[in-house]
Amino acid sequence: MQPLAGPTLLALWERGLSRHALDRSALLAAAARPDWPADTVVDRPLGAVNASLLRLRAASFGPRIDGHVDCPGCGQRLAFALDTQVLLDGADQDMAAETEVAGLRLRPPSLRDLAAVAAEADAAHGARALLARCTLAGDAARLDEEALARAEAALEQLDPQADLALALQCTDCGHAGNAQLDPGSLLWDELEVRAHALLAEVHRLACAYGWTEEQVLALGPARRACYLAMVAI
Ligand SMILES: [Zn+2]
Repeated sequence: MQPLAGPTLLALWERGLSRHALDRSALLAAAARPDWPADTVVDRPLGAVNASLLRLRAASFGPRIDGHVDCPGCGQRLAFALDTQVLLDGADQDMAAETEVAGLRLRPPSLRDLAAVAAEADAAHGARALLARCTLAGDAARLDEEALARAEAALEQLDPQADLALALQCTDCGHAGNAQLDPGSLLWDELEVRAHALLAEVHRLACAYGWTEEQVLALGPARRACYLAMVAI
């Protein structure tokens, strides 16, 4: 996976600015996987999309992920650090296209499915709506809680990278639980920081030397850093 070059990164940032988070993920996954026809990204298994986003993030910004979540118990902000590879464990294994459980035939969810249920405020209703969308045969609405849990576990097994969670324990109140990780947001946050930094560099060198944005971005990182250091004197 190639890292995002400056001009590509800025173009993605500009295109993604006004988009919904799920649309951004589709935009970034298309950039990560130019071998995928762009109009197929939203219908691909979510795990493959997430893996492509994590790999593009690691190639562009390094494998370490520093993040934080707010404790559901006390609100304390909890920091975490992990290596991308932990989340990609098993991502390269051949995945079955469907699975059968509790009288249902299921396919893995996609970005289009997530977008369709995104407006559902109630998490349990949202999970049922998502399962219904992923049901190729059978009636997901008839499942009791036990069968629903089995169906969700089967989907998890079918596409492990579709739903990335991190086990966390609060150091303040002791609350233990899972934090959801969204690879699209993780990548976008880094991309946004880098875009602002690049624009600031363009601004400083354009002011000092009269170069265009294209000329500044065409400089390699080492040469650009040298010029920036000289401008700062
Ligand atoms: Zn807590």
